[in-house]
Amino acid sequence: MTTHESRIARAAQLALVHTSAAPLLNFYAELARFQKPIFSGLQSKRETDLRALVCYFPALIQLVARTGTDLLANFAVENLASADGQLELLSAAWEGGDALDPAGRFYARVLLQPYAEYLASRGDIQAAGAGATCPFCNARPVAGVLRGEGDGGKRWLLCSLCSTEWQYRRVLCPGCGEENKDKLPIYTAAELPAARVDACDTCHTYLKSIDLTKDGHAIPVVDEIATVALNIWAEDHDYAKLETNLLGM
Ligand SMILES: [Zn+2]
Ligand SMILES: [Zn+2]
Repeated sequence: MTTHESRIARAAQLALVHTSAAPLLNFYAELARFQKPIFSGLQSKRETDLRALVCYFPALIQLVARTGTDLLANFAVENLASADGQLELLSAAWEGGDALDPAGRFYARVLLQPYAEYLASRGDIQAAGAGATCPFCNARPVAGVLRGEGDGGKRWLLCSLCSTEWQYRRVLCPGCGEENKDKLPIYTAAELPAARVDACDTCHTYLKSIDLTKDGHAIPVVDEIATVALNIWAEDHDYAKLETNLLGM
């Protein structure tokens, strides 16, 4: 797992290069800075109780009021005024949370990511032979990661919640299991050489992969945000993202 420190540094570096994505990267860096002490706090107390996260809500709500969108800030005013409401949101998101309002899911994921990362760091993960969802927490992947290993390289999927990576076949759609190469087009953009869109013409989903053989300094969770131009392109071509990133994109 990459450290919060390295994610924050990578976001600052990419914001200088990908200026159109800079506001997103700066907001992400704020969130990663917020998550860092949560992770280390849980780690030092060996805390595994979800309720330990509730105390972080007031500071998160303030951070979002200062640097987030009106939509997110208004959600907190309307839904996150009480500790009971906050815990209810966390529990619902931890149980799956597909039905949650995107704004609610955002708040929950900011807090659940360091929690899930801490739990995953203690667990013995049997990542070999895993399926399309995370072998540790069952969340969907937020990105693919390509590494050069022998002939043609290999693909890992990166969990959107606990940051576990597990190996996954290159020519296989994590959305529907399609394995016909002709139905799984790959799209790239010359200006974003280390990222690509892995699409599926059967279920019309896509996932971006970050190619570490093209940029060894890439931090997939951050580079995935920096390459938002590819999301716009994919969505214009009627592919739906398999899983959104922390920013809901
Ligand atoms: Zn996971
Ligand atoms: Zn598919």
